[in-house]
Amino acid sequence: MPAKPKKDEKPVICRCVCPYCDVEIIVEDSPFCNVCKVSFGRCASCGAVIMEEKAVKCPSCGKPLK
Ligand SMILES: [Zn+2]
Ligand SMILES: [Zn+2]
Repeated sequence: MPAKPKKDEKPVICRCVCPYCDVEIIVEDSPFCNVCKVSFGRCASCGAVIMEEKAVKCPSCGKPLK
């Protein structure tokens, strides 16, 4: 079978879906949903996007969030 050409692989942490509208959000320096006009926090330690507004620690690495 033919080998699949490798697409530009995004890091896993950059594939995020908005919890409000289920649309994939743009994750750059600051994650932002264009549909809801909502921005999300980000873990300073591992770069994971924090979806829960009230989260006090990173769900990915467990470090406390500021
Ligand atoms: Zn959204
Ligand atoms: Zn983290």
